[in-house]
Amino acid sequence: MATFLFDKIIFGPVKSRRLGISLGINLLPTDSKLCNFNCIYCECGWTPDKKELKADWHPRQIVKQKLDEVLSAMKTENKALDVITYAGNGEPTMHPEFAEIIEDTIQLRDKYFSKARIAVLSNATQIHKEKIINALKKVDDNILKLDSAFPETVKLINNPQGFYQIDNVVENLKQFDGDFTLQTMFVKGKHKGQLVDNTTDKEFNAWFKLVKEINPQTIMIYTIARDTPSPDLVKVSYDELKQISNKLEKEGFKVQISA
Ligand code: SF4
Repeated sequence: MATFLFDKIIFGPVKSRRLGISLGINLLPTDSKLCNFNCIYCECGWTPDKKELKADWHPRQIVKQKLDEVLSAMKTENKALDVITYAGNGEPTMHPEFAEIIEDTIQLRDKYFSKARIAVLSNATQIHKEKIINALKKVDDNILKLDSAFPETVKLINNPQGFYQIDNVVENLKQFDGDFTLQTMFVKGKHKGQLVDNTTDKEFNAWFKLVKEINPQTIMIYTIARDTPSPDLVKVSYDELKQISNKLEKEGFKVQISA
């Protein structure tokens, strides 16, 4: 399927379905994906084998210089900017200088677009590290993934490449005292002959129990929008996402839907 990689460190600005006018930052290699998950829906394609993984990180100074150049040009051209978003070809918080890069980003944002937000989309695998927690606490939109309450579903959908235990992730998420956005991808279909569906009552009820425990400020629910590496996945309909959203809102949660 036609998945794609971002071939630059800074990309956009683009109109994001979830965040507004967004300038993207890709801290991962520009010619390969680098992630400790291998989600069956990942728009960047499959995660390469360990021996093929390229951990050639863009140095902090280069990221800072490129971001300075782009923001300065956008300011001169009177362009609008809602958000600077860390996403790209994998998991941004794996970058060894992630915390320092966030400091630089805050400085540059304040200099050029003081009203713009800083967002990080992360799979929440590095939030056992104090440095990463502190960095994420400084950004405006700290968006952390949890796709299921069941280890077997996480294995099927996200396929973590290292140690991943839902209980630990839940405990780590609690460190933000609710001040973050929980992001969940709802998806159906088949993968390698196995049924995929994290919208069933059993899935929803177990996930909702964790949501109540973690108590996030916002819950972002979405479904696939582009080609996925696993070919037999299907979108969850807007109506189904709306039903999920209604149940969450009934309990007082703030929900964003991207269909
Ligand atoms: S966590 Fe994000 S980047 Fe990593 S495999 Fe999943 S969707 Fe792709």
